[in-house]
Amino acid sequence: MAARLNILILGGTSEASTVARLMEGDDRFAPLLSLAGRTKAPVLPKIAHRVGGFGGIAGLTAYLADAKIDVLVDATHPFAAQMSRHAVSAARQAGIALLAVRRPPWQAREGDRWHLVGDLTAAAAALGERPRRVFLTIGRNDLTSFPAPPQHWYLIRSVDPPPQEVRPPSGDILTARGPFREADERRLLENKRIDVLVTKNSGAAATRAKLDAARALSLPVIMVERPVLPAAEFEVADAAEAFTWLCERAASHC
Ligand code: NAP
Repeated sequence: MAARLNILILGGTSEASTVARLMEGDDRFAPLLSLAGRTKAPVLPKIAHRVGGFGGIAGLTAYLADAKIDVLVDATHPFAAQMSRHAVSAARQAGIALLAVRRPPWQAREGDRWHLVGDLTAAAAALGERPRRVFLTIGRNDLTSFPAPPQHWYLIRSVDPPPQEVRPPSGDILTARGPFREADERRLLENKRIDVLVTKNSGAAATRAKLDAARALSLPVIMVERPVLPAAEFEVADAAEAFTWLCERAASHC
């Protein structure tokens, strides 16, 4: 029997979980899922996993060698720029293949009222002086980088509740995990009398419905654009393409 392909998946996204699930019980692969440890109770596939940082590029390079990894799969979130940069450098230094799952960004459609900004500080500034009711869906970890102007009211949605010290002075917390449906998102925007939505352009299908609901209600959206990432050796757009690529790689692995 041919040797198994040792695969380290950098995760924290639905794509990473899906690729991992596709490999469950498949003896062509020996996959290991890596999580940063930001989510308290992650939904885990039935493959081996590890939690926590590697200690920068040097730490990841050493880990890849020690664990005899053949392929590094970067399936992190499009805003996890540091991890993606480390993956490119470490894979190169370790001399192994890097496959990046780079999901396409959301594109504005007719009727959308998007205001594009470069980062979270610019997003906060774009809210303006007049008090508004803001739906903030940037994740709880990024609240530290969002200098929430105090005159606004915020509805913050995140998987785990944000710590007290990073919450804006006025607002509500909603803990929820996607996928979300457009009708529910629309009801939420109406019930909470939201004036404006702030989000990062993650491109995720599971969280796209809020944009459709905002368009239907003609609400403005402050859209944080993605960080620029270095090109990976191999790139695919989704989990299915990643699995196909890995199957081809396994076939040529001996
Ligand atoms: P980041 O800023 O790019 O990474 C910061 C550090 O966290 C990395 O240098 C690394 O530490 C560690 N790290 C990140 N992802 C890791 C992984 N999958 N396994 C092990 N260590 C990891 O990342 P982030 O934006 O804080 O995101 C952290 C995690 O949350 C990622 O796995 C990402 O996929 C997920 N996530 C992020 C967002 C977002 O909006 N940023 C949204 C949803 C999910 P060392 O340098 O010590 O190796």
